[in-house]
This record gives sequence, C-alpha cells and structure tokens, in this order.
Amino acid sequence: MASRAHRATIAAVHSEANLLALECFETTRLGDTTGLAHVPVERIVDEFPGYHAKVSTASQPFAARAAWIEEQTPEGPRHEIWLRPEDSAAGKRFSMAHELGHFMLKQHLGVIDRILTQAGGQMSREVLAERISDEFASLLLLPAPMLKSQFDVLRAERDGLLYLEQFAARKGVSLTMLAKRLSQVFRPGPKGWFFVTADFDVARTQGVGFALRVRTRVCPARYYLPTNQRLTSLGLGCVAARFEEMRPFSSEEWCAEALMQLRSVWRRVKVDCEGVSKKYATRSGYSYLALFGRIKSEI
Ligand SMILES: [Zn+2]
Repeated sequence: MASRAHRATIAAVHSEANLLALECFETTRLGDTTGLAHVPVERIVDEFPGYHAKVSTASQPFAARAAWIEEQTPEGPRHEIWLRPEDSAAGKRFSMAHELGHFMLKQHLGVIDRILTQAGGQMSREVLAERISDEFASLLLLPAPMLKSQFDVLRAERDGLLYLEQFAARKGVSLTMLAKRLSQVFRPGPKGWFFVTADFDVARTQGVGFALRVRTRVCPARYYLPTNQRLTSLGLGCVAARFEEMRPFSSEEWCAEALMQLRSVWRRVKVDCEGVSKKYATRSGYSYLALFGRIKSEI
C-alpha cells in the first residue's frame, strides 16, 4: 500500500506536470487540443524557444533513451535532444516529450522545491525530476480534452484491445501510456470493461531480481486492483509464470487462465468476465502484457 505521503507526492507531481504541459500548449499556440488528430510533439519541441530535437546520426551510440545537449551559439544557449535512430516512432515521441519536460523543469526551478515542501522529502531530486518528466510526457501526448472528446468508450467496450491498440497507434503513444491516461481521465473507469497492463519495473527491483508488476489499470471502482504490486502477491502468480514462457503473441488459453485468476482476485464481487490478452515486445527486448476484458455480469 502506498503511504499517504507517497500519494501526496504523486498528486503534486501530476498537478505540477499538468501546469507545465498547459504552458507548452500555450507557448506554441496549440491551446485547444480537443480536435487534434495527434499532438505534434516534434513541432512543439522545434517551436519552443531555445529548443530543438534531432534524430542522432552520430556513429557513437549512446546508452540512454535520449541525450540532452546544451550548445552555445551567438544567439545564446540552444538546447538539442538527440534521439536514438533505432527507437520506434512512439518511443521517439515519448523521448522528445520527456526531455522537453526536463527542459521545462530547468526553466521553472521552483517546481521540485514546491513538491518537496508539499509532500515531504522522501524522494531524491533526481528521481523526482524523472517522475515529473514522465508525467509531463503523458499529459502532453494525451491531453484530457483530446481523450474526453475522442476516446469512444462504447467502441472500447465493443472492440476491446484492438480499439485500444488502434487508438494508441493513431496518437503515437504506447498502450501503457494510454492505459495510464485512461485511468486518470475516466477514473474510476468506464463501467463494464477493464484494462490492465503489467511489466517489469527495473528501477524498483534492481538488485533483488525481476518481478512482474501491475503498471496501469482501468477498472470500475469496485474491482480494485492496486498498481505497482507484484502479480504474484495479488494472487496472479500463474499469469506471471506464463508470461515468461510466452512469445510475443496473444494466447486464448493463457487469457482464460488469467481471467480465472482475476475472478478469484475479485471474489468479493463475484463476476463473470471475458477478454483478450497479449504480450508485447519492443525491439529493445522490453516486454509487457495487456489484458482487456468485459465484465458480463455479477453473479
Ligand atoms: Zn529523464
């Protein structure tokens, strides 16, 4: 269970990151995002004063997802982000938005102090800066007005995971990011369907082995499923074990098993559900699972 101070930090990170994202939309005159097909993050980055993104063609590969370089020019300092050419389009969009988040934090030095004062100092400045930049990226790439006006809950209920995949692809974001924003914007979750993603949280488990944890979930309020918990400690151990064996494809058999376990997690509200699951793998070998289902009835 997350402590009260931790929850306060998360809430403060969210609201500060939201202000920074709104400022970006205003600065680049993208004020209303309701009708945007997708957020033109490259344009935002290029039009942002003193900032610029470019895909690295350097022969020297770098380990980080993206690098941030400050150059002195006659017109003043110019900031440039270098992206890894091998990353997917969605990965590059995320990196651009995340690095822009760091840049915004440099322009607003008070933000981190404000969060530390509000929520107590249990997080280092570095970790906090990463959290804010991640949150900023998801708020920039999937703004609430866009989701509210364009995400079709009824279609999600009908077409399930396929619709979510297509929606995420159109917006140029990962499925996990979409799930995270859906759970924020539609909290406590649209009735009737649930969507869960899980992956290995390397930062949290470093040194103590890997554990598959719930990353994001959109569930109706009464079907509680805490995030950041190990699947094994939630009674979904079999899902975690099978995830290891699975190649990146969807499996009906595995999904049935996962749903059976979920039903037992939700045994307090007896539920009849159906769904699909899929294991995704990125080129860098990072993999995660998505489980989408409909709650047909409560028994
Ligand atoms: Zn970062």
